[in-house]
Amino acid sequence: MSDNRRDFLKKGALLSLSGLASALIGKDKINNIEEITNKIDRMPAFTLPKLPYAYEALEPYIDKQTMEVHYTKHHAAYVNKLNETESTNIDYMSSDEVKCTHIDKYWSAVIRNNLGGHYNHSLFWTLLKPNAKGETNLPVGTLNEAIKKNFNSFDDFKKQFSEASTKIFGSGWCWLILKSDGKLKIVTTANQDNPLMKLDGERGKPVLALDIWEHAYYLKYQNKRADYISNWWNIVNWQKADELFSTK
Ligand code: MN
Repeated sequence: MSDNRRDFLKKGALLSLSGLASALIGKDKINNIEEITNKIDRMPAFTLPKLPYAYEALEPYIDKQTMEVHYTKHHAAYVNKLNETESTNIDYMSSDEVKCTHIDKYWSAVIRNNLGGHYNHSLFWTLLKPNAKGETNLPVGTLNEAIKKNFNSFDDFKKQFSEASTKIFGSGWCWLILKSDGKLKIVTTANQDNPLMKLDGERGKPVLALDIWEHAYYLKYQNKRADYISNWWNIVNWQKADELFSTK
């Protein structure tokens, strides 16, 4: 269940309770109840999801400081900006994935950038996993089979994905997407756009995501983006990627 849906249900439950409470307690307490419901109304629509591991968990591939700044400053800023931005066109009840898919309905640069930033990072965190011992990390499940089928071999796929990531000019993301025809494709997007959005590029469901903004690697890798990318393969959460690929 999405956070928004949960918030809605919570609000509904509390409003019903407050109705019952006013009948039981009497009208003199109604101000307190109104105060509570007003507080609920001011709850933010977008929330920063909890990181599924500690800041230092991805070392030595991504350092603690980068993770902390990336999550508490960059991702948090996208969430805060979204909550500050009023839009009567956003369906707050829908998932962030659906919101991205319908970005053309509530078009504005600020929503496009910050909704993309929030969705992309929320997904990115779940597609990483600790691997402190540096164990071999390879695709699993039906995604593994599909990668071999679409790209000949995992090594060929890895080479193509790394090249596409390295070539991004400026800030952006590299993705592996599942297209509506069932094929896998490597695509890149600029800034905080993603392949769910109705934009010029090829669209599809994200299966892998790699953040190529300098803020994702500069503290540790400086200008050596290729090293960041080659190290990232050690901490890809293939289980999660297979789940994204397999879930309709
Ligand atoms: Mn980022």
